Order: sequence, then C-alpha cells, then structure tokens
Amino acid sequence: MELTLDFHTDKVYDVIIIGAGPAGSSAAIYTARAGLSTLVLFRAEADGALGVTQKIENYPGIRGPISGYELLRLMREHAKAFGAEFVRGKVIATDLLGEIKKVYTIDGREFKSRAVIIASGAMERTNKYKGEEEFLGKGVSYCGVCDAAFFKDKPVAVVGEDDYALEETEFIARFASKIYLVVPSSRIKAPHEVIAEVQFNPKVEILLHHRVVEIVGSSLVEGLWVQDINTKEKKLLKVDGVFIFLGGNKPSVDFLMNQVEMTDGHCIVVNEEMSTSVPGVFAAGDVLCNNIKQAVIAAADGVKAALAVDKYLNKKTKITAQW
Ligand SMILES: Cc1cc2nc3c(=O)[nH]c(=O)nc-3n(C[C@H](O)[C@H](O)[C@H](O)COP(=O)(O)OP(=O)(O)OC[C@H]3O[C@@H](n4cnc5c(N)ncnc54)[C@H](O)[C@@H]3O)c2cc1C
Repeated sequence: MELTLDFHTDKVYDVIIIGAGPAGSSAAIYTARAGLSTLVLFRAEADGALGVTQKIENYPGIRGPISGYELLRLMREHAKAFGAEFVRGKVIATDLLGEIKKVYTIDGREFKSRAVIIASGAMERTNKYKGEEEFLGKGVSYCGVCDAAFFKDKPVAVVGEDDYALEETEFIARFASKIYLVVPSSRIKAPHEVIAEVQFNPKVEILLHHRVVEIVGSSLVEGLWVQDINTKEKKLLKVDGVFIFLGGNKPSVDFLMNQVEMTDGHCIVVNEEMSTSVPGVFAAGDVLCNNIKQAVIAAADGVKAALAVDKYLNKKTKITAQW
C-alpha cells in the first residue's frame, strides 16, 4: 500500500492502459505478450466494479466462487508475467492528440506512450453533497496526496467505502490528528487485511452506515453533518477538512478533457476495433456505456483493443490474432 512518488517517467511506453480491471488487465496480457512495452495505471488495488465485487462464479475457466479482487489479481499476475508494469496513480489529465501521448496522475507524474487504451470503467459519482462545491478547495478535497499536508495535526473526515478510500485514509493519517471515516454502506468493500490496517489505526474512527447531510463552515470547512442510517440520529463532526472518495455509475472519462468523440457527454464512441476518434487511442470495457456490464465482456473488449494497438503501432493492414 506504499505510495510511490519517484517513479521514472522519461520512458516512452508503447502503450499506456488506464485502468486495471478486467478490460485493462486483459489488454495488458495481450500487449505485453506481443512484445509491446506496457504500463497499466490504476487508482487502487481492489478498485473498479470487479475489485469491489464479493463473489464471482461466472468467469470462464474460474469455477469460483472467487472474490472479484482475487480474480483481478490472477489477471494482473498473468499480465505481469509477460512484462506489463502496473503502477498506482489516479489519472487526472491527458494530452492525446500528438503522436506521443501524455498521461498525468494526481500526484504530479507524467507518463508517455505511443498508444493509449482507456479502460477506466464506469464508477464515477453523479451527485454532490450540500456544501461540497461551495467548500471545494476550502477544506473539501478529492486527493489525499495533494492536500493531506494542509491538515497537519487537524481533524478531518474521509467519506468513502472501498479500497481506494482506505488507501487514501492511511495516507491522510500521516498528517491529520484524527480521521472520521464516514462509510455510507453497511460494510466496507475492501480486502480484509486493508480494512484491518485502518481499523487498528488509533487516529481513525469508522462511522459505518452513515450518510453525509451537509458540509458546513464560514470561509473554510468547520464541520460535517452526518446521519446514522439505522437510528436516524444526526451529529456534527467538527473537522477542518472533508476528503471524498466515493463511486457512482458514470463512465470515468473526465481526464480525457473532450479530446475524443463522445455521445451524451460521457460515452466514448469507438469503431469495431475499439478505436476512438483520435488515432492511437482505444477504449474498452464498462467505460464504453456497454449495455451488458460483465467481466468477460470487458475482458474481450480489452483484448480487441490490444490487438488494435498492435495493428496501429506495427502499421499492419489488418488485425491479426495472437497464437
Ligand atoms: C456489485 C457488482 C457485481 C458484479 N458481478 C458480476 C458478476 O458476477 N459477473 C460478471 O461477469 N460481472 C459482474 N459485474 C460487472 C463487472 O464487474 C464489470 O462489468 C467489469 O468489472 C468492468 O470491467 P472494466 O475493466 O471495464 O472496469 P472496472 O472493473 O470498473 O475497472 C476500472 C479500472 O479503472 C481504474 N480507474 C478508474 N478511474 C481511473 C483514473 N482516473 N485513473 C486511473 N485508473 C482509474 C480503476 O482503478 C480500475 O482499475 C459486477 C459489477 C458490480 C458493481
């Protein structure tokens, strides 16, 4: 769970894959096996739709039941065995229009490649809390690495319920005096060992099954009203900061900054080879607004995108199967 901030970024990869779910990991197996230097960027270990799924028993070849995270680990190990590199880093911006594509992560790193596969899934939030926009940058944050140091020896709240939120909580705990971890669900969707690490951190108080009512303050955040979903009791947490790491069901495409053609503002348009409107940029999996959201379909999309990357980079006239 240690965050790496000094990753070597001068290299130009053949392909950067954004997302390490079934789409991204399957694409990485194929690109790495084809001898293409492959970097996979992802937000957190047990992240994305499959990462938070407790039980899978319909993935071909894996009788199960198996946790989504365990299945992901198998896929990632497979890709790593062929040489793919997996690096944790939330992508916040991209520069895709040139021949060399640039991908920027929230902690300030820049990665370069000749092709990009977008496989970032569809788990973005759609709704905002009362007070969230008003206090954005005035105590409300979406990035522990960027902002935790501003809350040295101060109490903060973290709102989230998965591995991504827990990893951020651990980082923020290096600075904050106290963390209220506000979990809207009745359980935290993360591997047991990660939950245990946070549970045993003396700075962290977990408020399970609590919903956020409002973020309050004057010029800066001064508190967070939460409500216990079972008892309906409301209470004010006196905090100087509120970090929000929640998911929803919108495609994760903000980092594309409208460089590729989309419908409805967030559904990427691809052809039958998973190619977007920008040469060298491909997309796969749930991020495509697929009607059928299934791991095996996302994986197959990823494979198609990988074969199309091979065609693009090696200037082939048609896609060739890998045997
Ligand atoms: C509760 C639940 C149960 C399910 N059960 C089943 C089932 O039984 N069988 C089945 O086949 N399917 C199931 N699914 C559906 C399946 O999980 C998805 O269709 C599949 O995971 C989609 O794969 P994906 O790779 O496109 O996206 P995801 O699995 O969502 O992966 C997205 C990846 O992108 C990364 N990412 C996102 N944003 C960024 C960013 N800005 N920067 C860097 N990385 C980013 C994430 O970290 C993650 O690695 C279930 C889904 C859910 C939610």
